[in-house]
Amino acid sequence: MNYNKKTVRDVDVKGRKVLLRCDFNVPMAKDGSGVITDDKRIRAALPTIQYLLDQGAAVIACSHMGKPEPDFEKWVKKQTEKGKDPASLTREKWEKSLEALRMEPVAKRLSELLGREVILAGGTDVVGPDAQAKAAALQPGGIMLLQNTRYAKGETKNDPELAKAMAALAGPDGLYVSDAFGAVHRAHASTAGVAAFLPAVSGFLIQKELDFIGGALANPKRPLVAILGGSKVSSKIGVINNLLEIADTIIIGGGMAYTFASAQGGSVGDSLLEEDWKSYSLEMVQKARDKGVRLLLPVDTVIADKFAPDADSKVVPNGQIPDGWQGLDIGPETVKLYCDAVKDAGTVIWNGPMGVFEFEKFAAGTKAVAEALSKTEAITIIGGGDSAAAVQQLGYAGQMTHISTGGGASLEFMEGKELPGVACLLDK
Ligand code: ADP
Ligand code: MG
Repeated sequence: MNYNKKTVRDVDVKGRKVLLRCDFNVPMAKDGSGVITDDKRIRAALPTIQYLLDQGAAVIACSHMGKPEPDFEKWVKKQTEKGKDPASLTREKWEKSLEALRMEPVAKRLSELLGREVILAGGTDVVGPDAQAKAAALQPGGIMLLQNTRYAKGETKNDPELAKAMAALAGPDGLYVSDAFGAVHRAHASTAGVAAFLPAVSGFLIQKELDFIGGALANPKRPLVAILGGSKVSSKIGVINNLLEIADTIIIGGGMAYTFASAQGGSVGDSLLEEDWKSYSLEMVQKARDKGVRLLLPVDTVIADKFAPDADSKVVPNGQIPDGWQGLDIGPETVKLYCDAVKDAGTVIWNGPMGVFEFEKFAAGTKAVAEALSKTEAITIIGGGDSAAAVQQLGYAGQMTHISTGGGASLEFMEGKELPGVACLLDK
């Protein structure tokens, strides 16, 4: 995939209407009060919005929020599958479920942050008459927000008719700007389809992701060290495979390390173990050897007598975990080994915590690695939702070069997969 994409700076936006895809999928209070509990994603979109407005563009912003089901029959089916009593699944309930995901709270917060009016499209017809009229009347320097893009039945199916109607809102001289990195791995009408009908460029958020992650994958400052952890081997196969082709050193930690240990003949007690992936992990060890990639596995581990924050714990050599115990973190010798391995790195890509960092008692490994990264001269890139959360929670966020804003998207990026929402943008 070509990561060198045109950005808002490469096109003339003055006087044009810009359909801007944002990621305003913000967490909302569970009580239905419409309170946004974290507005980080809205704030992250401000530089691109401000730039477009300052340059004299008119901005038609849009985003999805949550997972509304716009088809009543399908909603009933999904709820029934979840175990709900079909008799209780009324139209009113369905309408309420849609209502809870309206964009009103986002428009309000965005307006506060920008210090100007944000016109909001009404109803639930994303590209309907109200949106059309408001888009047509929008003046340069003005901003409006469409309703939840997933209210439209064709959104997740990438329906070309819907994409065409979205594009039409921006008029004949319109432009599409994508800044929703968290959604670029999905080929939806508003994230990819629309680019067939409008010239398409990236906003600053996506540009930064492409520069850092794309740069590290395509042309890394070496040595490139990849730290891979998290819970399961099976969810990280793509990442391991791709990074084995690129990295100089690969470090394995987290729950997936126990599948490697078991495959190599060790005992792992009650640790996370994926029997079906044992042979794959041996293949990876062999592949690393063949390619001359240094692959590091834990030498010791912190074990617990139960999966709980207050579990009893002790350190044992890796592969020597007694029955009734489970590995929840890398041990102190492993910490030394791993911290040493990143010291002289040119680039470090990190995906997946080294242990169950959510429990303070088992956060030491993840914390030590974060600390080591904060001290290197290396370009440090954090991908993955939980990894980003870990670095934030442990207080090292400010010291990393780049923390990806997209969980699933950054994983697919590191897997070397084509991202539909990036591939559709104009090349430089
Ligand atoms: P990311 O979202 O960054 O891609 P993952 O979702 O793969 O990361 O993994 C994160 C989860 O892995 C965390 O919730 C963490 O508690 C869990 N984890 C890490 N080490 C272990 C372990 N030894 N046993 C069980 N779970 C683990
Ligand atoms: Mg995760």
